[in-house]
Amino acid sequence: MKQSFSLLKSIGCAFKGHQYVVTHVVNERVQEYCCTGCKKEITNDIYGNLQPLDALNERINKALNELAIKKNRRSIAA
Ligand SMILES: [Zn+2]
Repeated sequence: MKQSFSLLKSIGCAFKGHQYVVTHVVNERVQEYCCTGCKKEITNDIYGNLQPLDALNERINKALNELAIKKNRRSIAA
């Protein structure tokens, strides 16, 4: 996780709440988000639960994204 995590900004987020924007669409269900305040990265899993975007979730999302791309290619070819 390459991020400039700021303690001060994360305290601001604790008061105001995180302001997440979508940074990466993995597939139709899973997206990655980044907080514009503290740069905290999260993702939702296939069950819709929010998870921190750690190394494991990054790997899972990469695999899901590759699957989604393959699926798209197939549906275009068909
Ligand atoms: Zn935040």
